[in-house]
Amino acid sequence: MKKEYETIIGLEVHVELATKTKIFCGCSTKFGGEPNTHTCPVCTGMPGALPVLNKKVVEYALRAGLALHCEVNSPCLFDRKNYFYPDNPQNYQISQLYLPICHDGYVEIETASGKKNIRIHEMHMEEDAGKLVHDEWSDCSLVDYNRSGIPLIEIVSEPDMRTAAEVVAYLEKLRSIMQYLEVSDCKLQEGSMRADVNLSVREKGTLNLGTRTEMKNLNSFKAITRAIENERDRQIELLEEGKAVIQETRRWDDNKEYSYAMRSKEDAKDYRYFPDPDLMPVNIEEEWLEFLRKNQPEFAEEKRERYQKEFGLSKYDVLLLTESRHLAKLFEETTKFCGMPKQAANWMIGETLRLAKERGMEYEEIHFSPQHLGDLIRIVQKGEINNRNAKKVFEKIFYEDIEPSLYIKEHGMVSVKDTKKLAQAVEEIIAQNSKAVEEYREGKQKTFGFLVGQTMRTMHGNADPEMVREILKQKLDRRADFS
Ligand SMILES: [Zn+2]
Repeated sequence: MKKEYETIIGLEVHVELATKTKIFCGCSTKFGGEPNTHTCPVCTGMPGALPVLNKKVVEYALRAGLALHCEVNSPCLFDRKNYFYPDNPQNYQISQLYLPICHDGYVEIETASGKKNIRIHEMHMEEDAGKLVHDEWSDCSLVDYNRSGIPLIEIVSEPDMRTAAEVVAYLEKLRSIMQYLEVSDCKLQEGSMRADVNLSVREKGTLNLGTRTEMKNLNSFKAITRAIENERDRQIELLEEGKAVIQETRRWDDNKEYSYAMRSKEDAKDYRYFPDPDLMPVNIEEEWLEFLRKNQPEFAEEKRERYQKEFGLSKYDVLLLTESRHLAKLFEETTKFCGMPKQAANWMIGETLRLAKERGMEYEEIHFSPQHLGDLIRIVQKGEINNRNAKKVFEKIFYEDIEPSLYIKEHGMVSVKDTKKLAQAVEEIIAQNSKAVEEYREGKQKTFGFLVGQTMRTMHGNADPEMVREILKQKLDRRADFS
């Protein structure tokens, strides 16, 4: 009988913190910029330069740790992780090993078989390294230290995940938490969130963990899924052939859908960690923690529950609305202005997401005033404009943030509600389309839509289609009775 295997996965996730300045100096953390312009003696590792801890980094790390239900170490310490690499000018990275800021937390995820807790082993603060740029034309490598000293937190999970789907659910949850806390934008593609996957397999029913490998260079959920499935199959194949899995770091090439060994996996002892003598122990006062606890934002899950209860929205709608904090904020503010949550939700989920998708925009790039959408919703509700025109106006709000009532007036889009005028238009259409009218009377329902369309056209689209339908029906049916 073929053996059954179980996959054991733990994650190390690096999250770049969105502070304005670096962790140990006052240099800007802004992305981009000419190489080596956001640098100083500290973040380029000049001899004698001394690091000074940025308090905002500690605050962001604590916010994240509390949201992950972690315990806090006070004091926590910084350690030197020693290794040589050209993008690391000090020849050590300032990190935390012995007393990290947070430990023993958990994240709850949704899986196919219900809710599951993924335990957090520890979370620590550290500095990012610079970046090597390999120039193939001139056959040399250049180094850019703008990224050197950007604050990171590393979140290390216990090996509690069993499938790629659970890994993706865990990462999505982490990303949502960090975005709602506004401590990071967590963009996998830009590297502000990076995941290393530790994976091993074991025969189902056994308790000992197999030898694990670590996979790096995973920059999308799809790549992570493919890499996990590929690595699981590779390890099972080795075991089936009676070979051993080697503990090593592997690099995933998503284009070739293949991973290759980079180096044998180091252990902590290889880095000769020791407490950084330049940095004081960090004492965290209970009052500060209490303040941070009290000021946690409303997270996606809480919003979902509230939207369903308070606004009577569907489960599907609230999932979409809370996918990003920015979207949820737009929705809430629009609702505040118009007092109609259902309509606000429909505009957000329908037209807003459609236009964003059409343009390939990230949710965070949507920038219209909620007040303008709120005004438009009220105008539609009063029947002053029909749905088709409302969509046109909304496009203008979405792209140019125009003021709707002014725009509608200027462009003559107000719906004609004068029944006399409408009746007159309908009469004309009936007179001009005797064939269609006859067909309708003979029971061909389709022609009714055609006649509505014709009437709307003579009104230049500025009529209430419901009213047109009603008047048209009255007139056609009345005549039909007479004949
Ligand atoms: Zn600096």
